Amino acid sequence: MPEAIWKERLFNGAWECGPLPAVAVMEPATGETLDRVGMADAASIADSCRRAGEAQPGWAALPYEARASVLRRAAQLAESHIDEIRDWIMRESGSTRTKAAFEAELAIKTLHESAALPSQSQGEVLPSTPGRFSLARRRPLGVIGVISPFNFPFYLAMRALAPALALGNSVVLKPDPRTAVCGGVVIARLFELAGLPRGALHVLPGGADAGAALVADPRVAMIQFTGSSAAGRKVGETAGRHLKKVSLELGGKNALIVLDDADLDVAVANAAWSAYLHQGQICMAAGRVLVQRGIYPAFLDKLIAKARSLTVGDPARGDVALGPMIDAVQRDHVVGVIAAAKAAGAKVETGGGYRDLFFEPTVLSGVAPSNPAFHEEVFGPVAIVLPFDDDEEAVRLANDTEYGLSAAVISRDLGRALKLGEQLCTGSLHINDQTVNDDVINPFGGSGASGNGASIGGVANWEAFTQWQWLTLKGEAPAYSLSGQLEHDKEETA
Ligand code: NAD
Repeated sequence: MPEAIWKERLFNGAWECGPLPAVAVMEPATGETLDRVGMADAASIADSCRRAGEAQPGWAALPYEARASVLRRAAQLAESHIDEIRDWIMRESGSTRTKAAFEAELAIKTLHESAALPSQSQGEVLPSTPGRFSLARRRPLGVIGVISPFNFPFYLAMRALAPALALGNSVVLKPDPRTAVCGGVVIARLFELAGLPRGALHVLPGGADAGAALVADPRVAMIQFTGSSAAGRKVGETAGRHLKKVSLELGGKNALIVLDDADLDVAVANAAWSAYLHQGQICMAAGRVLVQRGIYPAFLDKLIAKARSLTVGDPARGDVALGPMIDAVQRDHVVGVIAAAKAAGAKVETGGGYRDLFFEPTVLSGVAPSNPAFHEEVFGPVAIVLPFDDDEEAVRLANDTEYGLSAAVISRDLGRALKLGEQLCTGSLHINDQTVNDDVINPFGGSGASGNGASIGGVANWEAFTQWQWLTLKGEAPAYSLSGQLEHDKEETA
C-alpha cells in the first residue's frame, strides 16, 4: 500500500512535516499504534494564521455558488468514503459502530446544511432617508480558530468549520492530538480533494500550548472552542484580553428526570443510553438520573440489571455496547470520582471496576447534593441515580449545578412534564427523550459553566460566524458645510 500522504504531517494548505516529533495515533482498545501524525507548535500556528489571513479575502470573494459547491463536493466525498471514516472514528476514538456511524452521518449532514448557507439572504434593507439606500449585511469575520475535543472528533470539528468556511471565513483547526486523524486529517483531505482553495483551511494537531497560541494570535478574529469548562475559562480570558469574539461549548452535568407515571422499561432504556453511550464521554450525558420516589426502587433494580447486561469490549472486533475509554488519564479521573463519591456516602450498586481502558457500566446511588459526584462532570460510564418526592424537588435538584447544557423529562403527562421542564435552566430541553440529542439544524449551546451564551448550529451559525456591516449608498455625496449653522446664527443676531 502506498504511504499515506498525511503520515507524520500537518496540513497548512499542503501536507508538510511539523516542527515537533510526530506522535503516535493510538487505538485505545488494543494499545496498538495505528499511524503517526505531525504536531504543531506555536510557530506553526502563527505561520498558518498568517497564510489563512492571506487566503481568506480570495475565498470570500468567490461567487457564492463556487463556495457552496466545495461544501457539496466534500459531502459527496465523505459519503463515498463513509466506511473508512467510520472505521477511523471507531478505532481511534474507541467508539462503538453505532456511535461512529451516527457521528459520521451528523458530520455529513453538517456539510450539506453548510452548503446551503452561501445562497441564503445575507442581510436586510433598512428604512432610510430619501436618496439613500441603507443595508445591514453579514460579512465573514476573517480567520476563525477552531479547537475541538476527542469525544466526537469528526462531528465537533465539522460543526464549526463547515459553516465558518461556507460563510467566507478561513479556518485554522487544532484538533485534540488523541483523535487527530478522524478529527483533523480526514477533514483536511475531504476539503483538499473537494477543491477548497489552498490556505483557506489548516489542520494542526497539537496540545494545549498550540491551542493557547491560536487563541492569542492577532490574525484570528474568532475562536470556536469545544472542550472542558476549565480550559474554556482560560480560552475565554485570553480571547477577552485580545477583544476577540469567542464561542465556548463546554461541559455538563445534565439531569434526566423520570416522573412516576413513566413506562419503567422505556425510562431505563433512556437512562442507560444517555449515561453509557460512548462510555459516558459526552457533554450531554445524563450526569444525574432523578427518579420519583414511588418508582425509584424498581427503576434502580432494572437499571442495575441493564448495566450488568451490557457488553464491553473492542468495537472493531465485535458488536459491543461500550468500547474503551480514550486513555488512562480519563479512566483514572472516573476512578477518582467514584472513590470520592463512596467516601462521601455513595453506594456502588454495580460496576466500578475496569480492565485496561474498558470500564464497567456503573450505577451509583446515595449521592446527595453534598457529595462531590453530584456536581462534578464524570465523563465516564457512571449512572448516578437519586430519588425525589415531587416536581418542585426535581426542579431544585436538577438546577443545583453550575452547568446548564441539557435536560430531559420522561412522563406520560405531557402538560406536567412541560411545566416542570420550563423551570430548568439549560440550553436544550427534551420532553419524553433523554439528554443526548443533536440534529445539526438546531441552535446548540449552554448556560452557566456549559458555555458563554453563544450557540452554534442551524440559524445560530449566521450570528456565530459573521459580523454585521452597515452599508449606505447615495447617488452623489452631499456638500456638507460645518459652518452652515454658524452663518445662520450670525444672520439671526444681525
Ligand atoms: P479539554 O478542554 O481538555 O480539551 C479540548 C480541546 O482544547 C483539546 O483540543 C485540547 O488540546 C484543547 N485545550 C486544552 N487546554 C487548552 C487551553 N488552555 N487553550 C487552548 N486549547 C486548549 O477537553 P477534553 O477533556 O478533551 O474534552 C471533554 C470535555 O469537553 C468535557 O468537559 C465535555 O463536556 C466537553 N465537551 C463539550 C461539548 C459541547 O458541545 N458543549 C461537546 C463535547 C465535549
